[in-house]
Amino acid sequence: MGSCRVLAVVLAFLALLSIAAARRKLLVFLLDGFRFDYIDDKELEALPGFRNIVSMGVKVDYMTPDFPSLSYPNYYTLMTGRHCEVHQMIGNYMWDPKTNVSFDIGVNKESLLPLWWNGSEPLWVTMTKEKKNVFMYYWPGCEVEILGVRPSYCREYFSVPTDKNFADAISDALESFRNGSAEMAAVYYERIDVEGHHYGPSSEQRKSALKEVDKALSNMITQIKSKGLQNDVNVLLFSDHGMTDISWTDKVIELKNYINMSDTIQMKDRGPVVSLWPVPEKHTEIYQKLKVVEHMDVYNIQDIPERFFYKKGKFVSPLTLVAEKGWFIAESRDKLPFWENGTGKREAWQNGWHGYDNELMEMRGIFLAYGPDFRSNYRAPPIRSVDVYNIMCTLAGVQPLPNNGSWDRVECMLRNTAALAPLHQRSSCALALALLSLLAQQIWSL
Ligand SMILES: [Zn+2]
Repeated sequence: MGSCRVLAVVLAFLALLSIAAARRKLLVFLLDGFRFDYIDDKELEALPGFRNIVSMGVKVDYMTPDFPSLSYPNYYTLMTGRHCEVHQMIGNYMWDPKTNVSFDIGVNKESLLPLWWNGSEPLWVTMTKEKKNVFMYYWPGCEVEILGVRPSYCREYFSVPTDKNFADAISDALESFRNGSAEMAAVYYERIDVEGHHYGPSSEQRKSALKEVDKALSNMITQIKSKGLQNDVNVLLFSDHGMTDISWTDKVIELKNYINMSDTIQMKDRGPVVSLWPVPEKHTEIYQKLKVVEHMDVYNIQDIPERFFYKKGKFVSPLTLVAEKGWFIAESRDKLPFWENGTGKREAWQNGWHGYDNELMEMRGIFLAYGPDFRSNYRAPPIRSVDVYNIMCTLAGVQPLPNNGSWDRVECMLRNTAALAPLHQRSSCALALALLSLLAQQIWSL
């Protein structure tokens, strides 16, 4: 081959690669505890920011979370496209009997151990490894070194980031796009979940948090235009799960009434899903005693329903307790943390919760998107939280790792699916074809 021809091959290669490199910026929002019907047609009337996004882009009817419909498991499902039993983040609270360390909803020091996070590679790690800059704001886990990698920028989560923090994060993210320092930005918002827990999903407090988000999004739309970014940024908004009412006074299952707690080694979490490690010789006895308890199911690992995609997780406990919607499992009422609302009444504790069977209507979350790569004013059929990863990879120009998401369920949202088909389907093929044709030319001319 002459040196000119080698150069031609190299240039053709670089041109093809640049298609992938010239992807648009990606701005994603994780809005914790945002139930799908908080933005149904009637609610949208009073939410100009969301209404604008819906008319400019795509809204799915709802998004089904992974089981359990809790935060950490779904944060990781969204960012890996894998079910909990595959990525291993199976609960907000986990215990590893081998090392006797606990994951306690990200707040204890041991929650930062790679043990919990290295089960799968989240998108921001893949992008960082490919030298794409990811800026993350309050996103739980961005401070953790996962598979040896941290994102380019992490504004660490604390409990609970304010509305001003949220607005500032959006401005920062857009500025990082404008000045070219980030390819992707990810912003986390917690207050809709917090108010939904405290006062219930239908409360004024939850609605007013939503109004604040709406204002911030209206501002975002204005800023995107004023920075001239409207053709360069795709925006995704999604939640980890929904929320349902709980009745703190009468729908509590107190385990101490059925079993002797000293016959257990460990119990993790309370509420809709509880993990229990019985003393091995007491396992059968405890199982039998819990089996008769009303308003909840108790499962041995092998009997956990397949559709939960949960039971193969390495941190799954010997017994898993799952409550009926609206019921709350605890060791005893007295041991629950008492949320002080100023009245001194126990009834005033939490009024909303999630974590139940992920197929329940109230556990469903949202997915919205708009930007140059999305269709406009398009209502899409329901998707699942495992599906979001493939969309993000495609928009970010990253080859998705093996995952449980369905491309078929999300393809319809995109404007030009041929140009945007996932890289693993498209670029490998295009590159191979281009190379083959160039090689054929070389051989022909010999
Ligand atoms: Zn929550």
